[in-house]
Amino acid sequence: MDIESQYEYPAGVALSKFLEGLRNGKIIASRCEKCFSKHVPPRAYCLDCFKPINEYIEVDPVAEVQTYTRSRLLAVGETGEEIVWVFVRFVDTLGGLLHMLDTATTPRIGLKVKPVFREKRVGSIHDIKCFTAAD
Ligand SMILES: [Zn+2]
Repeated sequence: MDIESQYEYPAGVALSKFLEGLRNGKIIASRCEKCFSKHVPPRAYCLDCFKPINEYIEVDPVAEVQTYTRSRLLAVGETGEEIVWVFVRFVDTLGGLLHMLDTATTPRIGLKVKPVFREKRVGSIHDIKCFTAAD
């Protein structure tokens, strides 16, 4: 038996800034005016001192691989080509993104990577096709 469960929800101020940035090929962080910490993806409130965020800034798209794993299991539960999933953190920010690494790049912790943006972007995490070695 299939149960339909389609739903939508508003992204909110902070995530909307992030998605707009992706559509423009940019990585957007929130910056706290009290403690100056920067978060990607951006937050409406500072995770460190809980102050409301009023500033959203573009950051260097170079990120560092924090950890990675390999999978052949697709979202639909079938097996496919191996995918390397990386958790990356942008330079001088907190937080991070989980995404795919391009197949030509050998993953390792500490590897500098950058996003590969799609030509046609719509304001989605899928506007990033994958990450690739930054050098
Ligand atoms: Zn703060």
